[in-house]
Amino acid sequence: MKEKYSIGEVAKMLQVSTRTLRFYDEKDLIKPAFVENNGYRFYKIEQIKQLELIIYLKNLGFSLKQIKHLLKDESGDQSLELLLNEQYQENKQKIAEINQQQKQIEHLRKIKLSRTSLTNFSDITNIMKKESKLMTLRKRMWLLTILLMIIELVVISILYAFQLRMSIIVILLVLIGGVALSKYYYDNVEYVCPNCGKEFTPSFVSFNIASHTPKFRKLTCSKCGKKSYCLEISRRK
Ligand SMILES: [Zn+2]
Repeated sequence: MKEKYSIGEVAKMLQVSTRTLRFYDEKDLIKPAFVENNGYRFYKIEQIKQLELIIYLKNLGFSLKQIKHLLKDESGDQSLELLLNEQYQENKQKIAEINQQQKQIEHLRKIKLSRTSLTNFSDITNIMKKESKLMTLRKRMWLLTILLMIIELVVISILYAFQLRMSIIVILLVLIGGVALSKYYYDNVEYVCPNCGKEFTPSFVSFNIASHTPKFRKLTCSKCGKKSYCLEISRRK
């Protein structure tokens, strides 16, 4: 181990500037062990240890004045012990506070997640409301179909009664009735795409030619362009 260290070496060792070390000298905190005739300052190992302590206390937030008092005081070691204990407790408190904050952040994250599912839930309620409107529409469709069939039967009976063989009129009547019913239904429904989740209305033609189940119709989504079984819902008016 070296006998003495230059100010440059000490500064490098403790990762501070030589200006800081000179400042500590000026403030009478730590004076170099020797100052040579040419002005060069040298420190001994004990002084370096004290400097280390000063820098450590400074980083902990102690003022230079407080540090100076500590170093000069007879019972400085005990005071230092007390101060370090206090600092330790303070840090412990800070850690506890930070941990508490972290817990709150985690909690808020969970709330945010469940809020997203609440939005989904309200979407579902919305779809369910539309579903009940759709049920009414479907019942009405049955009634209209029966009504149309009765009208058609009456017209056909009248035509037969008058011995009018106007089968083209009958075919037209059935066709027009069917298209009118279909148009009525089409005007009251729209579809939810399972790919993009958006609602869309298909063209009347693709609506009619699409294969379907009671709740779905295989359609090409006008929003994302994907073809899939889309959920039938009541159209927003
Ligand atoms: Zn889509």
